[in-house]
Amino acid sequence: MTADTIGFVGLGNMGEPMVRRLAAAGHRVRGYDVAAEARDRLANTPGITVVAAPADVGDGADVVILMLPDSNVVEQVLLGDGLLDRVRPPTLVVDMSSSEPARTRALAERAAERGVTLVDAPVSGGVIGAKGGSLTIMVGGPATVLAALRPVLDVLGSKVVHAGDVPGAGHAIKALNNLMSAAHLLASSEAMLAGQAFGLDPAVMLDIVNGSSGRSGSTETKWPRYILPASFDSGFSIAFMVKDMKIALQLADAAGTPAPLSRAAVAEWMIAADEMPPGADHTEIARWLQRAHD
Ligand code: NAD
Repeated sequence: MTADTIGFVGLGNMGEPMVRRLAAAGHRVRGYDVAAEARDRLANTPGITVVAAPADVGDGADVVILMLPDSNVVEQVLLGDGLLDRVRPPTLVVDMSSSEPARTRALAERAAERGVTLVDAPVSGGVIGAKGGSLTIMVGGPATVLAALRPVLDVLGSKVVHAGDVPGAGHAIKALNNLMSAAHLLASSEAMLAGQAFGLDPAVMLDIVNGSSGRSGSTETKWPRYILPASFDSGFSIAFMVKDMKIALQLADAAGTPAPLSRAAVAEWMIAADEMPPGADHTEIARWLQRAHD
C-alpha cells in the first residue's frame, strides 16, 4: 500500500521533523497538535494541512500516526477526542509514541472491535534521527501490517524491525531499551565524575572508553554531543526518560524477573527529575550529579 494521505497527531520535538520528512517525500499530511505554537510552526508548509481538531486528521487518511507524550494522551486522542470513531477501515493507526505495552494491547482490541488495525511503532534515535530519517523503528503487530506500512516507515527510519506479532511488542522493547540507556548514562556520569576528580581529562577518558568495553550510546554520542559541550539539548526530556524507565520496571515486576539495579537507577533518576526544572533535558543528569558532588 502506498499511503497518499497521512493523519498525524503530536507535532512536537519528534513529530514536527517527522511530518516534514513525510511531506517532503510526497505524502499529503493532515497534522494536529493541541499547542497553537506547534500548529503555527507547520502552517503554510507545502504538503501539510494543519487541521483544527484531533479527529479531523482521520478524514481521508490511509494511515494515522500518533507521536504523543504517553498512553494517557494517546487514549485521550483516540477515544476521548473521537479519532478512532473517525477512522475508516482499512486505515491503519500507528502509535509511534513511547507508550505502555499493556494499554497498547487493550487499545488495539478496542480498535479491532471497530474493524480498525492499530499497531505500535515506537522509535529510537532522537530528534537528530527524526530529522535525518535515520530512526530505528520497532513494530508490534502482524508482519503483514508492517509490510503495508513499510513505504511510510522507510521515510522516517533507516532500521525498521518487526519486534513481535502482538500489539505492544514494540512498546515493550522501546521501554526496555531506554531503561538500559538510562542506566548507562547514569553509570557513565558517575564514572566520568570519579575520573575527573582523580585528575583525568574527560575527553581523554571518552576516547579510551569508546575504544574499550565500557562504551555505550551514552559515551559514544551523548557525552561528546550534549554533555561535554554543556549544550544539554538532545530534545529528549528527563520526564520522558523516567516515564520509560517506569514502564520497563513494571514489565519486570509483572513478569517477576529480578531488577535490583534497574530499581536503584529509576530511584536515582526520579530524584534528579524532581530536582530539575520541568522540561529539563535528560542529559542534564550528568550536570545534576556534578552539582551534587560540588
Ligand atoms: P514533545 O513533548 O516535544 O511533543 C509531544 C507533542 O504532543 C507536543 O507538541 C504536545 O503539544 C502534543 N500534545 C500533548 N497532548 C496532546 C493532545 N491531547 N492532543 C494533541 N497533541 C497533544 O515530545 P517528543 O519529544 O516529540 O516525544 C513524543 C514521544 O516520542 C514521547 O512518547 C517520547 O517518549 C517519544 N520519544 C522521544 C524522543 C526524543 O528524542 N524527543 C526519542 C524517542 C522517542
